[in-house]
Amino acid sequence: MSTAYDVIVVGARCAGSPTAMLLARQGFRVLLVDRATFPSDTVSTHVVQPLAAAALARWGLLERLVATGCPPIDTYSHDFGPFTLSGAPGTAESPFAYSPRRTILDKLLVDAAVEAGAELRESFVVEEIVSEDGRVVGIRGRSKGGEPVVERATVVVGADGRSSRVAEAVQPEKYHERPPLLASYYSYWSGLPMHGRFDTWIRPQRGFAAVDTHDGLTLVIAGWPYSEFEANKQDVEGNFRRAIELEPSFAERFHGAKREAKFAGAAVPNYFRKPYGPGWALVGDAGYLKDPITAQGIFDAWTDAERCTTALGAHLSGARPFDDAMTDSQRARDESVLSMYEFTCQLASFEPPPPEMQQLFGAIHCSQASMDGFAQMAAGTISPARFFSPESIGEIMAAAQAAG
Ligand SMILES: Cc1cc2nc3c(=O)[nH]c(=O)nc-3n(C[C@H](O)[C@H](O)[C@H](O)COP(=O)(O)OP(=O)(O)OC[C@H]3O[C@@H](n4cnc5c(N)ncnc54)[C@H](O)[C@@H]3O)c2cc1C
Repeated sequence: MSTAYDVIVVGARCAGSPTAMLLARQGFRVLLVDRATFPSDTVSTHVVQPLAAAALARWGLLERLVATGCPPIDTYSHDFGPFTLSGAPGTAESPFAYSPRRTILDKLLVDAAVEAGAELRESFVVEEIVSEDGRVVGIRGRSKGGEPVVERATVVVGADGRSSRVAEAVQPEKYHERPPLLASYYSYWSGLPMHGRFDTWIRPQRGFAAVDTHDGLTLVIAGWPYSEFEANKQDVEGNFRRAIELEPSFAERFHGAKREAKFAGAAVPNYFRKPYGPGWALVGDAGYLKDPITAQGIFDAWTDAERCTTALGAHLSGARPFDDAMTDSQRARDESVLSMYEFTCQLASFEPPPPEMQQLFGAIHCSQASMDGFAQMAAGTISPARFFSPESIGEIMAAAQAAG
């Protein structure tokens, strides 16, 4: 069957644009559509973890991001009350995280997809996923003010986020599901420099964090349990300020700073979805969603785009059957993220750490190498499965004993 495109990608932000870019770089005919226009903002904060920065470097895009004046972040600090664990989150090759405004980051990614040869349609709403004989064969949608059009492709990729129209149409199997755990709100302040630190405070039933972004502004995000979502909606600012006041030293600086934007916020469920089926695939939040407390979504979307485009490339070039290639991609995704998913859900529950975990935090605090390990785990540089393995815990305990 001849189709106009090899791949149609629905959604052109963190998952969609890299997917389109990587496929176009392999020489495939790619249509990338989004109902948004770029640059534009979206409800999301934007910590780009060190290994995500490494992905940008692999794609030849990190220098462009740095050139936008986005400050590097070299230290992550987690203040649990009794202990503050402060360390370096990256690797020797990729030492820095960044926190670029989504207006800038997403535009950079869209431009890279177009440069690679993808055809971009902005202000284009996908209204229907077109199927024939149980197989997805295209999309029906329209540009702003235009007539409906049908576009056909060998594969339609849903990179359309947590309200994915593609997923709604294909009804993929869901697993490891959890309900929303937190409600998070954020805004931007001037006069609150963090000097290259991403600081997080965890308190009973509350958490908040601060990090520098573009234009001398500081992003501050705070969260409370989802059970308080409805009640606290009436007074987001008051609840936000009361959360910050749980740490007086930061609250004092915060009170002297000026808010420069409105509050934005969200509460998201947690799930994995089977990311492929006849004629379709899902990348990014459409296929795997979790609470933003560990700031892994962008890194996950980029890793997912790399895995998915490798699998699709193998299929489209005739090297591997679709199901074989995509099964491997799904397995690799699930294996690499599962322990971070569990850690994220645990952290987002705001339950006090069990006594043995508190003991471990005390031991980690005794050694800079162990605190660097914790920062790397929190950044996703090393997996929680590895950091909390018996071997690693043995090393942490030995380092704590050696430190006296
Ligand atoms: C409050 C909050 C804070 C966060 N903080 C961080 C953080 O600090 N670091 C981090 O790594 N992650 C963070 N995340 C997660 C991160 O935002 C997501 O994981 C990431 O943006 C997912 O990208 P995506 O491309 O899959 O989806 P999205 O960014 O949701 O993009 C989907 C795109 O699809 C388009 N689309 C949808 N439906 C249609 C349609 N029918 N027709 C046409 N276009 C369509 C939309 O317009 C949109 O542009 C946060 C999330 C939230 C909610």
